[in-house]
Formats: sequence, C-alpha cells, structure tokens
Amino acid sequence: MATEMDVYNHPTFAMAARQFDLVAELLQLPVAERERLKFPKRSMTVALPVRLDTGETKVFSGFRVQHHLTLGPTKGGLRFHPDVMLGEVAALAMWMSWKCALMGLPYGGAKGGVACDPRRMSKGELERLTRRYTQEMIPFIGEKIDVMAPDMGTNEQTMAWMMDTYSTHAGYAVPSIVTGKPVSIGGSLGRRESTGRGVGYLINRALDTINLDPRQCSAVVQGFGNVGAVAAFSLAKYGVRIIGISDVTGGLRNEKGIDLWALEKHAAANNSIAGFPGADPIANDALLTLPCDILVPAALERQINAANAGRIQCRILAEAANGPTTPDADVILDKRPEIFVIPDILCNAGGVVVSYFEWVQDLQSFFWTESEVMDKLFRILESAFVQTLSLSRKHKISMRMAALSLGVKRVADAKEIRGLFP
Ligand code: NAD
Repeated sequence: MATEMDVYNHPTFAMAARQFDLVAELLQLPVAERERLKFPKRSMTVALPVRLDTGETKVFSGFRVQHHLTLGPTKGGLRFHPDVMLGEVAALAMWMSWKCALMGLPYGGAKGGVACDPRRMSKGELERLTRRYTQEMIPFIGEKIDVMAPDMGTNEQTMAWMMDTYSTHAGYAVPSIVTGKPVSIGGSLGRRESTGRGVGYLINRALDTINLDPRQCSAVVQGFGNVGAVAAFSLAKYGVRIIGISDVTGGLRNEKGIDLWALEKHAAANNSIAGFPGADPIANDALLTLPCDILVPAALERQINAANAGRIQCRILAEAANGPTTPDADVILDKRPEIFVIPDILCNAGGVVVSYFEWVQDLQSFFWTESEVMDKLFRILESAFVQTLSLSRKHKISMRMAALSLGVKRVADAKEIRGLFP
C-alpha cells in the first residue's frame, strides 16, 4: 500500500532519511516528533512550457521543496540538471535545514530544481525557462517566505533573471528575493567564492587538527564548477598541490600538480577541462581512489559509496558537494579512523552563510566590504567546526553524526517550544 510520503521515493531521499533516523535515535527524539521533523512542509511541482530556439515548445518539470518553516523563511539553491526529481530536491531541502541550524541561521531549508540539461540549451532558452519557473513559483516565494540561490547548473545570471521577473511582478526592485546575484544588483561581495573558500578554510582547520602541513599535501577535486574550482584555488593558495581534478567530461591527473590558472583559461575557452595539455586524462572512478591527502567531492550526490569507500586513499574527505557519501559508505568510513571527514552540512556551508549576509544587506540596503563578509564568514565556520569536533570527540561519534545532531536538535527544540497548532 502506498503511503502519503511515497511521493519522495528516491535513493537520495532514502539516504537523507536514513541519516535523520540515525540522528533521531542518537538524540532519543520522541517517536511522534520524528515524522514531523523529517518530511517537508511543502512541495511544489510545476509544468514549465518553454519556447525553444527551434520554435517548438517543450514542457520541463520544475520543483521547489520547503522543508520547515519554524525558524524563518526557507532558504536553498535552485538546480538545473537532467536527473532532477522531487525526491532528490526534498533530500537537498532537508540537508539545508540541518545546515542552516548548524550555522545558527534563522532559516528553514529549501531546494528547487528543473529537469533540464543547461549545457545543451542556449542563453535565450535558459532565460525563458528561468523566468517561467520564477513566474510559476510566485505564489510560494517571497523575501520573508522562501529565498533561492544558485546550485548546480545555475549561476549569478540565473539569479538576476529571477530577481528581475519577481521585481517586475511586484512593481519595484526586490533584491532580497534571491541571493548569489551579481553585486551590481544587490549581490554580496564574496558570495560567488564563499562556498569554495569556506571549504578551503575548513580543510585548513582539519589539516591543523590532524597535524598535517598544507605545503606537504596533495588534493584531488571532483568537479570544476563554482564550488570545486574555488575550493581548488583556495587550497592552492594554502600551498596544497592539486594532483587530480574532473568535470562532467572527464578527469585529469598530474602528480607534480595541475596549473589551475592555465586550466581555468582552458576550461573557459573550451567549456570543458577535457584536452588540457598540462595533465593526463583519468576516469572519474579512478580519480576518486587516487592516493592523496585531501579528497574533495564537489559535484554530485552518492559518489563515495559502498563500492569505493574501502578504496579511497586520503587523510581528509572534505564534502564540498551535498550528499556525496552514502550511509553504506559511512559504515565503512567509521571503521577507517585515519580518514577525517568534514561532513557536507559543515563543509559547504560557506555558501548559505554568505547568502544570509547578502539577504541581510539587501533588507537593510546597507552593504559590507569583502573583508567584513569573509571575516564574519570564517568566525561562523570556525565556531561550527569547533562545536562539531568537540561533540564528535566527547560522544565518540562521527563528525557527520555530530554535525547532524547539532542541526537536528536545534530544529527539534524550536518546534517543541513553538508547540503544535492548533
Ligand atoms: P556547478 O554547476 O558550478 O559545477 C558542478 C561541476 O561538477 C561542474 O564542473 C560539472 O562539470 C561537474 N560534474 C557534474 N557531473 C560530474 C561527474 N559525474 N563527474 C565529475 N564532475 C561532474 O555546481 P556547484 O555550484 O559548484 O555545485 C557543486 C556541488 O556543491 C553540488 O552538490 C551543490 O549542491 C553543492 N553546493 C553548492 C553551493 C553553491 O554555492 N554553489 C553551496 C553549497 C553546496
């Protein structure tokens, strides 16, 4: 028999739900409260008819999931990817809730997605799709209701179109409706780099914790997009050698270190890192198991799984992507104490923290310098890192369980004190 929540059936949702169940058990949350905390408050599915450049009309599926509304507006990215489905978006929304709570932000989690392949669409088609998605979402979003940001396959331009569509509807400029938009229309300095720089900062803290010198370390990064590329540059600035990197078209390897500045030029000119002359090609699977000090999955979910978790050869697993490690892999990693895991909701939280700063600046129409932004960001990340590490050591639990339990507990406490209406 189908249950009400079967609508979320998806391997990524099953993974987020399993993590939640483990944390709920650890925290001994009342059984009656668990479903209320786990399942999203609202989910929207919309059909998006878009005129293609050929003159044909194609209908795309769009989603938005708002996980909980207890602490403030919901907050989370919008993803354009061919495999986007409601259950995956719901899992990402749930993780956003725990992440925002871990960082102490006054938000619930949300996520959006459109099933499309942005690499195969023209700029005009992407603009029409983005505007149509925003238009369909207008009844459900607002600066005090739900605020979007970029994620895989979307960027500052996408946010600018969203802000323009929403503002046209409102009749005045509403910059606070999205974050991660260009600085020229109310974006925050440092937002574009914030996720990757945060990843770099936390890896540096982890290196310090396990007594490794960044200048003696090597790193492998999966994904050369907004997060992966900035994280790689940030590591290189700390003195780390980047020996492997990949994007959707394949991987590259060079034991001596990849020249990121040359790679960036090549990627900009070719829309892909493939064919870069300064490194050898390597398959994605092999890339993840290369011996290195720091492994940074910065692309998709479920990349470290039961099949490869026993074979990864790093000292630090820095989860820049959302959900890159499955619970089955966690069981294996729990038996490999030589690997220090920086769990996703901590590792990539720099993005939502600076999104929060951007929203605050927009609401006040008062803008900060880049050094104010970065200084405030690193303070918040530092505090979350220390709290997570202390809890992990105190209770002898994994860094993931520690981070999740801090986040889940804050949401559970807020729900309890607000009570159940009516
Ligand atoms: P992006 O679209 O800018 O980049 C994604 C990169 O991953 C691209 O280089 C793409 O080619 C690569 N990729 C896709 N499939 C791949 C595969 N099978 N193998 C190797 N590489 C592959 O996206 P992004 O914003 O950098 O997001 C990456 C991850 O970080 C996602 O999990 C996202 O949810 C997470 N994240 C992003 C932000 C943000 O601020 N953008 C914040 C927090 C978390």
